Amino acid sequence: MYEPRVRTKSMERFVCSKEPQNRSERLLQDSAKRLKISRAALEQIEKPYTFIYQRLPVEVGGEVINISSGIVLHNRARGPFKGGIRIAPDVNIWETNELARLMTLKTALADLELGGGKAGIRVNFEKIYDQFKDKLKQDFYPFCDMLKDHIMKEFVDHFIERGLVHIYIPAPDMGSSAREMMLFYNKTHNPAVVTGKPEGIEGWLPGRHEATGFGTAYAIAKYLEYIGKAPSDVTVAIQGFGNVGSHAAYYLNDFGCKIVAITDFYGGVHHEEGIDVVELMEYAREKRNIKGYDDKRTIDNESLFRMPVDIMVPAACGHVIDKDNCDGLGTRLLVAEAANMPVSFEAFIRLKEKGIEILPDTYVNSGGAIASDLEYKQGLGGMRYSREEVFAHMRLRFDNIFESMLEIKDQAGSFIQAASDVALKRLYQAMKTRSLI
Ligand code: NAD
Repeated sequence: MYEPRVRTKSMERFVCSKEPQNRSERLLQDSAKRLKISRAALEQIEKPYTFIYQRLPVEVGGEVINISSGIVLHNRARGPFKGGIRIAPDVNIWETNELARLMTLKTALADLELGGGKAGIRVNFEKIYDQFKDKLKQDFYPFCDMLKDHIMKEFVDHFIERGLVHIYIPAPDMGSSAREMMLFYNKTHNPAVVTGKPEGIEGWLPGRHEATGFGTAYAIAKYLEYIGKAPSDVTVAIQGFGNVGSHAAYYLNDFGCKIVAITDFYGGVHHEEGIDVVELMEYAREKRNIKGYDDKRTIDNESLFRMPVDIMVPAACGHVIDKDNCDGLGTRLLVAEAANMPVSFEAFIRLKEKGIEILPDTYVNSGGAIASDLEYKQGLGGMRYSREEVFAHMRLRFDNIFESMLEIKDQAGSFIQAASDVALKRLYQAMKTRSLI
């Protein structure tokens, strides 16, 4: 008879020991010391509940290509596993795990009755396009849409087959949008299965599409109010002009801040007098990126971080501010983490020493999770929310989170550490109450 050589417990230890050092775990270990939470209890909170690896075979131009995907169900002490689906060329299981852990912390910090999970799908659209463009004779973006549809349909089938409906509630993240979320609804006809659904589909939530960007802008405006600075007195640079970056730019501009530089994966624009955000949004909607908007005044991603501005808003991928570039960071006042984990642990320590404030991702980009919570409840058969109600609700949640961080910021050492303390305390209490630790 087959005897497993490694016992389950040690297998779990073995797998988890392969995880690279990451910021959230280091912060949680620090928080656990302040909160006097034992190492054993902390381990139950920070380690994932389940990893799922899934190969997604899709047909392109008469050939089958296999796409790697993974789902991490991290923690459901406070509610169902909740988190977005990231589609990017550099997705890996540890990144997905870290993002799932961030969701657990984010939902706890915002005091939502949700847990944390995440899905990652590793696709290099440029590379696949190069391979098939002569055969298919299709433009790049229609090709990407078609391929993404095939991949997502396969993903949704596996999601249903594995019984994840109502267990893991997906949402959009980098590389995915309302279009992909609709595919979950198409298969299940159940509005509570997914959040971030397109306008007009059963259970959609007005304001969800802009929620993360609006929340980012509101968090920055709140911080400016706290330090007694007018929005019109600050300059802002933004990396990323997708869902989060473009809406953050729109609302920051609306609040009176001057957005002087914006980049995306393909290009960037630098207007010292302030960028016309609405015009740039229209341009990006048509072209699908911002390259070519103003060829005379461009900026690349490296220079963006060196630019002297008051506020830097990374709204694209992770680890863009690290030990190598943090000393050259041009930001004078604040880094607002609209992206997930854009500042590495080493850079966080260094920036703290230099007196540059960082507002954490678990707070700044929690607008999406807060709005998703309403959308989910709406889908379960609760009341319907108007756009005004959604935005009012988000403001209230952001005010509460800010207060809870501020209360302990001095003891904890920074907003990032305070956010980690608040979330860990809530998770510990929930797991104790449910006899999970
Ligand atoms: P998106 O796919 O809509 O847009 C991503 C943007 O980042 C694009 O403009 C893209 O060109 C740019 N980008 C990607 N890689 C880049 C690189 N290497 N250098 C420079 N720019 C790059 O994604 P999004 O939904 O706006 O998500 C952005 C960030 O916000 C991610 O970190 C995501 O995890 C986080 N976030 C998103 C949501 C949400 O509701 N969409 C919620 C919480 C957090």
